[in-house]
Amino acid sequence: MSDDIFSKIAQGKIEVPLVDSNEYAVAFADINPQAPVHLLVIPKKKFLNVTELAADSTYMQAVMSLAVSAASKAGLTNGYRLVFNTGQDGGQTVPYVHCHVLGGRSLTWPPG
Ligand code: 5GP
Repeated sequence: MSDDIFSKIAQGKIEVPLVDSNEYAVAFADINPQAPVHLLVIPKKKFLNVTELAADSTYMQAVMSLAVSAASKAGLTNGYRLVFNTGQDGGQTVPYVHCHVLGGRSLTWPPG
């Protein structure tokens, strides 16, 4: 068992308000939001990054379907963005896979 912050959230050892959840994943607000709505979706089982997650169809499907469900619950009817920052060049800072759900404003492209 890992004792990093996302592991503790996933295991319910740190209580955060959950925006949404399913059997395999939870969705909660990012602590440093980059958009009016900025959620994180994490699997309840630890994977380091989306490369690892994609090898497990059950958890991958659960994370993706929860991201879509959480976006809907957050009222993002005009669109949203799902992001998996991955590895050093991808800008990943937390080594526990997480899907960013961003919305509530018009997002620019390309990202920085
Ligand atoms: P990354 O840069 O790895 O793609 O994104 C990590 C994200 O986790 C950042 O958006 C950061 O604000 C968020 N974050 C880091 N620590 C915490 C925390 O303890 N609680 C929450 N809710 N978000 C966190």
